[in-house]
Amino acid sequence: MEKKIPAVNPATGEETAHVKAADDKQIKDAFKKSKKSLENWKDLSVGQRCKYLKRFRENVLEDLEDIVSTIKEDTGKSDIEILMSDILATLEITKYYEENAPDILKKEKRKTPFEFRKNYSYVEYEPYGTVSVISPWNYPFQLSVVPAITALIGGNTVVLKPSEITPLTGEKIKELFEKSGFPEGVFQVLQGTGEVGEKMIEEKPDKVFFTGGVETGKKVMEKASKQLIPVELELGGNDPFIVFKDADIDRAVKGLVYGALANSGQLCVSSERVYVERDVKKEFMEKLEKELEKVRVGGNSTYEMGPIIREKQIEKIKEHVEEAVLEGAEMLTDFERNGNFLKPVLLDKVDHDMNVMREETFGPVIPVTSFKGIEEAVGLANDTEYGLNASVWSEDIEKAEKVASKLETGNCYINDVVKNIGNPHLPFGGVKKSGIGRYHGPEGLKSFVQPKSVMVSGNTIDEINWFPYDKKLCKSIAKLIKTKYGKKGFLKKIKNYFSLRKEMLGRD
Ligand code: NAD
Repeated sequence: MEKKIPAVNPATGEETAHVKAADDKQIKDAFKKSKKSLENWKDLSVGQRCKYLKRFRENVLEDLEDIVSTIKEDTGKSDIEILMSDILATLEITKYYEENAPDILKKEKRKTPFEFRKNYSYVEYEPYGTVSVISPWNYPFQLSVVPAITALIGGNTVVLKPSEITPLTGEKIKELFEKSGFPEGVFQVLQGTGEVGEKMIEEKPDKVFFTGGVETGKKVMEKASKQLIPVELELGGNDPFIVFKDADIDRAVKGLVYGALANSGQLCVSSERVYVERDVKKEFMEKLEKELEKVRVGGNSTYEMGPIIREKQIEKIKEHVEEAVLEGAEMLTDFERNGNFLKPVLLDKVDHDMNVMREETFGPVIPVTSFKGIEEAVGLANDTEYGLNASVWSEDIEKAEKVASKLETGNCYINDVVKNIGNPHLPFGGVKKSGIGRYHGPEGLKSFVQPKSVMVSGNTIDEINWFPYDKKLCKSIAKLIKTKYGKKGFLKKIKNYFSLRKEMLGRD
């Protein structure tokens, strides 16, 4: 029987439309097509592939309003959030790769050691092949399109599975790629739940790029390991927000309100744990309470916070809050629910035994505690199994950079929050449970290609290491090693090299 994926309005919980889930045959066919289309796609130059990208970018601009309303239908987030985090971030990286990919992926000459006389060496970059991209619902456009285009520029073909929670955005992405004229089979979309995601790994893609929760990430990696398929995992976070007493407190307060409540806290790089230096904590909390009163939740005109995506997520947030309060946290703003909309919850006097500090809450909850000095701040921030992003606030930049170096995190923003993920020049990814691998920036593009190293010999005589072995050769090689790595002076070394060369050339 045909399976349907319902599109549900997160504000009301009502089903508004549906898309067809891919069946087994469609999944198999998609991978056959993907593997077939690879032949021609990988033979194009990087510059030629970038032309398709440019067309895609132009089509995003042409369809901007429609893309925004589709993402809104799927997620309920505010237009500004969609424009900034889904569209702008995607276009930034698309343009960055259009301009830089040919250089990042160009053939690179490498040095060749002296003993390989008359040789030269280089590295060239080859695609993995077919890449399965599995994406989450929270930034459904950016987190599907960015890995997909990066894989495509590298010469891979892509099969994307958008989240079943945001199927309309998945359809819109498919339409945009079709409109941009990518050759048939180069980019395809399969709609479905995690079951389709699992089957997409069983079809033996050459790489899996997964963004989502830690538990799903483990399943993806386990399944991929059976076929030795390389995986890249962009997983959850539990990011610290650290405010030193010498920070600009007004700015830090506003930064936190954004960092903790953007997309209603349903953000992998959301500020999930707040540490304020003891001397300024009182001032910080007073200002924070006032600032939180200004945040608008839902409604018909402009608002900052949209709905929480599903009932299950609301229950998890509630559980974290209630449990923290039972364990001694002080609730400074109540847990207030209006349908699927939640008001921000401010918690004081929290500690690291509470799940609200240990786990990813993924909601509008701001748990705050205090510290004294760099050592305690770093100790608290690193006391977590996660390591995605971090935010450090101080007017003393040297100190803040020192703290950033000590943090166990993939990314860190000093005196701001969250939007470092939007700098296309920087690699992005997590350490510890937050993931494996990097995308964005030159490193991110290179994670979708494999370096192939090539050496070319210009010699016409027998090589020194070739058979037959004899005592004279053994002595010469021992002399070579001692000359190369020994403590002899420069002139002596040169003299030895010349005599060695003669000995070795005279081998016959
Ligand atoms: P999720 O793990 O529930 O789902 C992600 C995707 O995996 C979906 O497309 C889903 O259908 C698919 N999936 C589910 N089970 C699968 C399986 N067994 N095999 C293959 N695919 C399967 O995550 P979500 O709720 O959509 O997203 C929220 C999570 O994603 C949060 O933890 C958040 O922190 C994380 N996230 C991380 C980043 C990052 O860049 N590190 C970015 C955004 C979101």
